[in-house]
Amino acid sequence: MVKKATKKTAKKPIKKTAKKTASKKISPNDQAVASLLELIRITSTVMPVDVDRALKKAQGVEEKNTTASYAMDIISDNIAIAKTKSQPLCQDTGTVIFYVYHPAGFHQIPFTKLIHKAVMTATKKGYLRHNSVDSLTGENAGTNLGPGHPSINYVEHTGKTLEVKMMLKGGGCENVSAQYSLPDTGLSAGRDLDGVRKVILDAVIKAQGKGCGPGVLGVCVGGDRADSHKHAKKQLFRKFGERSKNKELVKLETEIVETCNKLGIGPMGFGGKTTILECFIDHLNRLPASFFVSISYMCWSYRRQGAIFDTKTMKLKKWLY
Ligand code: SF4
Repeated sequence: MVKKATKKTAKKPIKKTAKKTASKKISPNDQAVASLLELIRITSTVMPVDVDRALKKAQGVEEKNTTASYAMDIISDNIAIAKTKSQPLCQDTGTVIFYVYHPAGFHQIPFTKLIHKAVMTATKKGYLRHNSVDSLTGENAGTNLGPGHPSINYVEHTGKTLEVKMMLKGGGCENVSAQYSLPDTGLSAGRDLDGVRKVILDAVIKAQGKGCGPGVLGVCVGGDRADSHKHAKKQLFRKFGERSKNKELVKLETEIVETCNKLGIGPMGFGGKTTILECFIDHLNRLPASFFVSISYMCWSYRRQGAIFDTKTMKLKKWLY
């Protein structure tokens, strides 16, 4: 359900901005940076409603006085403190990913500069940790800016709205994401949905104790290696409960969650009933010679948010999650 943006914007940093804007008219560019900054703050510090609900349900499912229940209680406390104090849900604020859905005629180059400015400010304010380093030297510029970071993806649509979605993807869960090339003889996984099922389960088993579960899986069947990975991660923008449009994949999504939660891996790999909260699967065309299955594993700290921007004022109009 879409909520009014004002519900989440009544925090101190934005109040300060609002005071300034009352005395001095703010330009659309400055407003865009303020709105992007607020989007980053909410993404980093407030658990989306659908994920929060699923985590609470999982907390209720774990047996009391077990390590799994203890882990779920800590996660729950963490979520409450992060929201109250407007502090990051996890010290690893991850790879910063944006998807910008825009109408025809939208200028991407200037908007990229505004995103960079917002990311730098968010880093200074502590909504984002200094997380992005030079891959060759290890040097940290302290800005979260550099080649490939943040990851900004533009999509032109036929509507008139400007919609910005973002995700903070932690390093630990990214490390346990995987890609398989079917057939996989070691797993007896052929080029069919049963083979897909086998490799997804293999990825979840290999992720146990790592990746900070309970996790969520974004899966892509097909595509080339690069698009397959990207499309798998993009599935994590779906709302909890949003099933695939393909009946066979709906069955597989449901089966994967049920099977994973019987593996006994549990929260943080401590044992228990909740290994996976959700599984989103989609498919892309592939070459007859290739059959890739990509699995993007997201940790409990499931930070994704989105908002519709007013294209004239650049104020936030509606939250998407
Ligand atoms: S995997 Fe997720 S919960 Fe674990 S440290 Fe990284 S961001 Fe935090």
